[in-house]
Amino acid sequence: MPITIGDTIFSSLKFKEEQLHPAKKEKPIPKWYGETQCNMCKATKSRFWYDAKTKHGYWAFMCEGCFFWHSLGRLGTGYGQKYDGESLEKVEG
Ligand SMILES: [Zn+2]
Repeated sequence: MPITIGDTIFSSLKFKEEQLHPAKKEKPIPKWYGETQCNMCKATKSRFWYDAKTKHGYWAFMCEGCFFWHSLGRLGTGYGQKYDGESLEKVEG
């Protein structure tokens, strides 16, 4: 079966295109849907919010400053999550 040069170039370009832009998997970004007020200092604005375990043993929703002072300084399962202050989308943890 004869293959024209045009076809070969086209299929190799198409292959490259698929490699460069693999189909994006739809993955919903988890968001914070609760109140946006710091449990510690009652601030209602923060660059980032944290839902994290504190040094005191309980969990709290905290602003950036309170996370620094009261948390264990860790994020992830069992420690805490970090949310964007504007979009409230989870950014870490
Ligand atoms: Zn605070």
